[in-house]
Amino acid sequence: MRKFTGDILLVATHNAGKLEEIANLLAPYGVRVVGAAELGLAEPDETETTFVGNARIKAHAAAKATGLPALSDDSGIEIDALNGAPGVYTADWAETETGRDFVMAMTKTHDKLVQSGAAQPWTGRFCCTLVLAWPDGHDEVFAGTVEGWVVWPMRGDQGHGYDPIFQPVGYKITFGEMDRWEKNRISHRADAFNKLVKGCFG
Ligand code: IMP
Repeated sequence: MRKFTGDILLVATHNAGKLEEIANLLAPYGVRVVGAAELGLAEPDETETTFVGNARIKAHAAAKATGLPALSDDSGIEIDALNGAPGVYTADWAETETGRDFVMAMTKTHDKLVQSGAAQPWTGRFCCTLVLAWPDGHDEVFAGTVEGWVVWPMRGDQGHGYDPIFQPVGYKITFGEMDRWEKNRISHRADAFNKLVKGCFG
C-alpha cells in the first residue's frame, strides 16, 4: 500500500457538495485540498459501468493533467427493488438541459418504486468508491457503503443529491435532516475514507 506524503491533495471532482465533505473528512490530517474546478480541469466522461471504473478514470485523468496525487470519488445509490438502479447512473437521473435537478431525480426514483409494486421498506445503500492515483499511474482503491431505505416524501434541506429520501439504518431522520458532522461520521464516504486514511495517511 502506497502512502500519501505530500501536503496538497487534488480532489478530482467538480461537485461542490462532495468537495466540501471530503475537505471536512481530511481536515484532521492537515492535508490541503484543492478541487478540480479550481484548477480549471476538464471533467472526463464517465464511460465505465462500475463505481471503481469511473473513479479510476477521474483520478488518473486529474493526476496526469497536474502531476499531483489525485483523489476521486464515484458514488451513488443502489436500490434493491430497482435491481441496484440508479447505481452508477445516479447523477445521470438528475441531468437536465440546464444542469442537475435532484428533486426531479428523487421524484423519478419514487415513481419507479411505486410502478415496481415493491413492498416497503425500499431497502438500498449509498456506495462510495475512492481512488487515490499518482502521476506515475499507481493507484489505491477503497469502497464504502451505508445501508438504509428510500423514504417518501423528501425530508430535510441539508446535504446534497439524494439525501432527502435516504434514511440510514438505526435513524429516524434522513441524511437531508442530519447534521453534516453526523452524516460525515456514518456515511458511505466516511466508511471509504476510514479505509483510505488507514491505508494511505496512517
Ligand atoms: P458521481 O459524481 O458520478 O459520483 O455521482 C454521484 C451521484 O450520487 C450524485 O448524483 C450524488 O448526488 C449522488 N450521491 C453520492 N453521494 C451522495 C450523498 O452522500 N448524498 C446524496 N447523494 C449522493
